[in-house]
Amino acid sequence: MTEHPDIVAVMVGVAVEGPYSYSVPPGMRVERGSIVAVPLGPRLTLGVVWGPPKDTIAHNRLRAIAQSYDVPPLSEELLKLVDWVARYTLAPPGQVLRAVLRSSEALDPPRPVIAYRRTGYEPEKLTPARLRVLDTLTDDMPLPRAALLGAAGVSQSVLDGLERAGALEKLEIPPPPVALPPDPDEGVARLNPEQQAALEQVTALDPHEFGVALLDGVTGGGKTEVFFEAVADTLRVGRQALILLPEIALTHTFLDRFTKRFGTRPAEWHSEMTPLQRARVWRGVLDGTVRAVVGARSALFLPFRELGMLVLDEEHDGAYKQSDGVNYHARDMAIVRARFAKARVILSSATPSVETRNNANAGRYAHVLLTARYAAASLPNITAIDMRLDGPEKGQWIAPTLAREVFAALDRGEQALLFLNRRGYAPLTLCRSCGHQYQCPDCSAWLVEHRFRGVLMCHHCGHEIRAPKNCAACGDVDALVPVGPGIERIAEEAAARFPDARRVILSSDMGTNAQLRERFSEITRGEYDLIIGTQLVSKGHHFPKLSVVGVLDADLGLAHGDPRAAERTFQILTQVAGRAGRASQIGKAFLQTYHPDHAVMRAMVTGDREAFYAHELAAREAGILPPFGRLAALIVSANEPDIAMNFARRLLSAAPMTERVRLFGPADAPVAMVRGRHRVRLLVQSSKEFDLSGYVRFWLQSAERPTGNLRVQVDIDPVSFM
Ligand code: ADP
Ligand code: ZN
Repeated sequence: MTEHPDIVAVMVGVAVEGPYSYSVPPGMRVERGSIVAVPLGPRLTLGVVWGPPKDTIAHNRLRAIAQSYDVPPLSEELLKLVDWVARYTLAPPGQVLRAVLRSSEALDPPRPVIAYRRTGYEPEKLTPARLRVLDTLTDDMPLPRAALLGAAGVSQSVLDGLERAGALEKLEIPPPPVALPPDPDEGVARLNPEQQAALEQVTALDPHEFGVALLDGVTGGGKTEVFFEAVADTLRVGRQALILLPEIALTHTFLDRFTKRFGTRPAEWHSEMTPLQRARVWRGVLDGTVRAVVGARSALFLPFRELGMLVLDEEHDGAYKQSDGVNYHARDMAIVRARFAKARVILSSATPSVETRNNANAGRYAHVLLTARYAAASLPNITAIDMRLDGPEKGQWIAPTLAREVFAALDRGEQALLFLNRRGYAPLTLCRSCGHQYQCPDCSAWLVEHRFRGVLMCHHCGHEIRAPKNCAACGDVDALVPVGPGIERIAEEAAARFPDARRVILSSDMGTNAQLRERFSEITRGEYDLIIGTQLVSKGHHFPKLSVVGVLDADLGLAHGDPRAAERTFQILTQVAGRAGRASQIGKAFLQTYHPDHAVMRAMVTGDREAFYAHELAAREAGILPPFGRLAALIVSANEPDIAMNFARRLLSAAPMTERVRLFGPADAPVAMVRGRHRVRLLVQSSKEFDLSGYVRFWLQSAERPTGNLRVQVDIDPVSFM
């Protein structure tokens, strides 16, 4: 770009294909990355100066940039990331840019806050309330109004009175920073020799170059301690750090650990923040006052200017894949951003994704191992319970062996966890008289009974009905039966079997995030003996008294039969088993299974994760599946099944011919209807080197456009096959 261009290309934050040209009014200075407001149709829209214009439209026909914001321009690496993500996912670049520009409030100058300061004059007669105010303001330093009111315990009228009396001066001060700079030298960890060696391997990566380390360590091995030290190393060289967590709302203890380590709370980025809080974090990241952010996957698009490290905790977690709007995988895009930013990446997990393990095996990532639990803790012993031989009686779900172990743990004063990854009471309600099954009217799914709330509910769309007494089809009384267990049904059985245990049941529908956080704290403090939970309890938590874990249906995840079913099952079983024995007592985990010979169960029981990865990598290679091949899904949906299917067939026949891809489908999606929309899937498979995004783009550009209520969604590297 020339130094003071008079026409520029501006990418607007709406779903359009490319930047538009605008003229730069006299006196305005913009450069690539400048954030501007431009007229688009009847209104002003936020946009970013992208570079020189592509077309040469006569100057007098162009509209002019309305405003250029007084903030630093976006960094080159972030602009490149937007283009890259758009090209890869097939989302319009303007839609990707919207993930960056989400907060327009952040662009205006920060609003000052009202503060009070003592003038030095002290009236003769002082009420106790007035005295408290003056005592709170000890020196000449002004105090923000809210802080003063809180500390002195007075109302605004007391301040007003003191101001009128000439004892207080009211003034405006800049708002305090949204987060203080973390101190890398505050709570430095004393690492054990294995952790120290791991840290040295990570910090051996050049802090000013791109590099990736897989921190592959057992649950409780101290991965968090190690990557905190690596973050400190990044802060010391003057660069910003981003730590991504899969589910930040429930991992509040993580923020406490950060605070202890760095002497101050990190800036946060997640859905529970107010728009104002977000705006302030966004601005702080851009102007460099915020040095470290802990956030959910969308924090990947924050406007860092000096990003030096990205940490992805639990890098294997499915929550990193965004599946509406822009379909991106935060782990993969983090690597892309780090490459542009010349930053280091730490992928941390006890159960790395097969993709990441393959990259480490191939030497593309440094493979950093933590093989032992910290201090006196040892890894749990894992046993499979063969449900064909040792199953519970009919109508029960807890096998005798598991029940005995739970009793024993309770006797020792330890905690036990019963795990089933299914919310509600029963996944199906059936009429014994006529066979009627309760289905969602808008989805191809059964309604799940939630007995605590007295409803049947669809887990795809949220549709609810009051739990019926009589069959809706034949009207018979007392003929409805629940089929199969959900977590509430396990809780019912546990109440009958372990009546003296203090029990808590935990799934995502059991309260607000704040209530759930409170339950986790109570468990940590030992206020419960028996925990009954879904995958909510399997992730990241450190319950020191927990010694026995029972997985009631270890086969549950295998039933899906998609390419990642085995991997996901291995991951969730390892994570939940890994909650046991994290302090000094020996942990035990029991897997109730009908397939004790399955490769996943065998790897779990023998503790041979290398065998699992070897087996899984071989299977993927044989099937040309990721990471040895590539997949893209096209999901065609419409209000009528025939419309979706016929369009998908026409799409298939329009696919560009090449030997280099295989096409599958069209086939009804496993959940064929969601929210009244019928869904048909096409799957494209190619070798690893093939530009699959480019192929699908070319295909869709040359094919018939979807019209009416037809929609085509593209999912490159699909994670879900539902
Ligand atoms: P991971 O992230 O690998 O599951 P954590 O980092 O959560 O492991 O560590 C497990 C537990 O051990 C935590 O309570 C942590 O505070 C403690 N711990 C691990 N390493 C150290 C260390 N070097 N010094 C003190 N405590 C440690
Ligand atoms: Zn539904």
